[in-house]
Amino acid sequence: MFKREEFVPDEDWHRFREISKDFPTPNIFINLDEIKKHYEQLKNAFPYSTVYYAVKANPGVPVLKLLDKMGSNFDIASRYELDKVLALGISPDRVSYGNTIKKACDVEYFYQKGVRMFATDSKEDLKNIAEKAPGSRIYVRILIENSSTADWPLSRKFGCHPDMAYNLLVMAKEKGLEPYGISFHVGSQQRDIGQWNDAIAKTKYLFESIEEEDDIQLKMINMGGGFPAHYIQPTNELSEYASEITRYLHDDFDEIPLIIFEPGRSLVGDSGILTSEIVLISRKNNTSLSRWVYQDSGKFNGLVETLDECIKYPVVSDKDHGKKGEVILAGPTCDSADIMYENTKYKLPIDLKVGDRLYWLSTGAYTSTYASVEFNGFPPLKTYYYDSEAIYEANGDFIKKI
Ligand SMILES: *Cc1c(COP(=O)(O)O)cnc(C)c1O
Repeated sequence: MFKREEFVPDEDWHRFREISKDFPTPNIFINLDEIKKHYEQLKNAFPYSTVYYAVKANPGVPVLKLLDKMGSNFDIASRYELDKVLALGISPDRVSYGNTIKKACDVEYFYQKGVRMFATDSKEDLKNIAEKAPGSRIYVRILIENSSTADWPLSRKFGCHPDMAYNLLVMAKEKGLEPYGISFHVGSQQRDIGQWNDAIAKTKYLFESIEEEDDIQLKMINMGGGFPAHYIQPTNELSEYASEITRYLHDDFDEIPLIIFEPGRSLVGDSGILTSEIVLISRKNNTSLSRWVYQDSGKFNGLVETLDECIKYPVVSDKDHGKKGEVILAGPTCDSADIMYENTKYKLPIDLKVGDRLYWLSTGAYTSTYASVEFNGFPPLKTYYYDSEAIYEANGDFIKKI
């Protein structure tokens, strides 16, 4: 089906096995060096861009500290994320409030803390921003009807039609705000690079018409996230995305505006390995060909993105050299929604036993914090972070030298 080596090279794998082996399951280990590598790749691929890390993808303090050190800015979705980022000494002018769904009191809170850049996609929200965050920079998110080529689409709920975006930017100016730019998100794990072309074309049209008709010079395009992590379904390399997207920009703009990216998945996805333990292996009748494999992590502690089997993680074991057979993979809770893969045919070794470990690769994004507090009494998924020197807790506390 796939090989572990295609996702994690031998050296990294052996190191991971060595440092994680004594920790109880389920857990996730995040390799900070991998995040560093992805950040550098992104900056090399888009040297003209400014990066606002989408904190929600993995808000671990060690990740925030690393990206702070590397010069990243931060896209924040709630006051709780804001408090966490500011507590690390990161200055509010490196923060954007990218969530278009927010309370007026939260806008006020961000403003009081010094944040001056806000996303919006509605009149109501814009009014709140004008009132509670006077003079701030505004970018309007346009709706992208993303196709089936994004494995985790972010359509419909966010963004407005370009005509409305135009009106909102004019209204922003009237209300004393600074109409700053346009944002979009083409859908997370977007496998079709052409989606950026359509979005950039819509943006260019807005830039031009609003300058001609209302004398507003927009300065910035926020292209959101969407770049892929490395799962089972193949994707293009980031360098491919970069050369295509850069070409679209040159085709549409004489002078490229300020470009912001808000990567989440592509920066942290590949850095994580979730380790689970098999709780039970069974068959539903005497002659059924596939086994049910129940393990101690599931939809409610880390694997939410297996909803509708959208994200297909590579799953490996220590017995992968032997013969394999079809399985249905399920979590430990008393909820029948807690099945990860049934239609997607995963194959695991025939000689797999209760107590064996499974390793879910590329689980660094949208896993650890997508965990319920105590459904069925199970605690949230434990996450550990490591670099070349030590292992740390999610809150940044030092655990031990390695
Ligand atoms: C979630 C989110 C991102 C990150 O998207 P990825 O596809 O994970 O890179 C970026 N921007 C906004 C506004 C988001 O909500």
